[in-house]
Amino acid sequence: MMMMKVSFTLLLTCTVHMLTFTVESLASCSSSSATEAYPSGYGDEHSSSCGASYSHEHDDLVPPKREVYGGGRIIDITHKIRSDLPSFGSSEGVGQFLWLPSSMKNGSFANISEMKMLTHTGTHVDAPGHFFDHYFDAGFDVDTLDLDVLNGPALLVDVPRDKNITAEAMESLNIPRGVRRVLFRTLNTDRKLMWKKEFDTSFVGFMKDGAQWLIENTDIKMVGVDYLSAAAFDNLISAHLVFLEGRDIILVEGLKLDDINPGIYSVHCLPLRLVGAEGSPIRCILIK
Ligand SMILES: [Zn+2]
Repeated sequence: MMMMKVSFTLLLTCTVHMLTFTVESLASCSSSSATEAYPSGYGDEHSSSCGASYSHEHDDLVPPKREVYGGGRIIDITHKIRSDLPSFGSSEGVGQFLWLPSSMKNGSFANISEMKMLTHTGTHVDAPGHFFDHYFDAGFDVDTLDLDVLNGPALLVDVPRDKNITAEAMESLNIPRGVRRVLFRTLNTDRKLMWKKEFDTSFVGFMKDGAQWLIENTDIKMVGVDYLSAAAFDNLISAHLVFLEGRDIILVEGLKLDDINPGIYSVHCLPLRLVGAEGSPIRCILIK
């Protein structure tokens, strides 16, 4: 369902690298490159700004790998983009998505990566143009998504584990009117489907009648799910059509909802501003 591919350079990272390089060059390799923007914490206090000798002095450096921040106040609900992450319809997973065309080991002044992946990779968002071609042509891309919908109070709920998200399942959740953002945790999380490279068509998702029930009986505008599609495989197109037709519901798919208590959080999701793209990788966090 996701034919469009996107390739772009990590411009932000590159810009930071290039600015640092310029500053350092102008300073003629001075003893410290600390600036107001980076007053500390980047480990450059002990380096000469020439940088080349830096790595040899810190062979034992271990970067932090975190899922929570601030003592658990901030929970990352984004899956790391990795080569063995599942990819829709594929048994091969995401595969290689990063290249290093400019490498310091090959003489470049900085490492500059390039990436190429489906816009619907890992934790990602769908725009109306994903299933409606006239919306796609009209420009309803990820850059048009309402950040007000993607940021604010949210409810994490556990869906009954024995079925897809049907109208009956939706009704049983008793989600009050006024709740605008809901993260639906399902059997997919229990089965750890996002940790299995092979795409699994037996994932749990919305059936058409469940999507219809949500629209007619709730105020939910952000729908978060824990596998690569909000719609169950059997209703893949029909449930997506129900959700996306009104252009006011945003689907965030492939969320990492393991080991989090159900309840109310503040959710914060930010898609990339990919002009013309009907999907985008998205970074989502919960704040307690
Ligand atoms: Zn998608």
